[in-house]
Formats: sequence, structure tokens, C-alpha cells
Amino acid sequence: MSRKNRRIRGKPKKLPSIKVNTNQGRHDDRSRCAFCGRLLGAYEWHWIWDEFGQRVRKCNDERDCYQQRRSAAEAAYRKAIRLR
Ligand SMILES: [Zn+2]
Repeated sequence: MSRKNRRIRGKPKKLPSIKVNTNQGRHDDRSRCAFCGRLLGAYEWHWIWDEFGQRVRKCNDERDCYQQRRSAAEAAYRKAIRLR
């Protein structure tokens, strides 16, 4: 028996429509500090290991970060620092 290699010759398949930059204008590319949530510039943050062992972004300005942090974030930050 030969292989049945019949191709379906009908309409050409429609290509999926490509959506380019769907969130243009709404989304801010800059990341935020994991603990205080402020927007970070290019040189205003560093990596830090959080309490779950994953790398998160932390702003460099510790005093402002401390003032912005909520109690839950403060607890998380203290735990992360202790584990480091
Ligand atoms: Zn911060």
C-alpha cells in the first residue's frame, strides 16, 4: 500500500493577524521596586534576593523606600535582608 499523501488543496490558510504593540501608550516599560513600588530609572535600582529566593528589583534610595513601604512589604524586606 502506498502512502496516502494527499494534500488538501482548498483555500489558502489564513495567517493569524499579528497585533503589534497592543499595549502601546498604556504600559510603562520601566520596572518598579519590589518593596516600595516606585518606578525605577535605569540606574536607580539593584538586584536583591527576596524571602522566597527569587531575584527582585530594589531601589537604591533606602530612605525613600522605607517611607513608601507598607507593613507587609516592610516585613518581607526584613526577612529578605535577614536571609541574605
Ligand atoms: Zn524601594
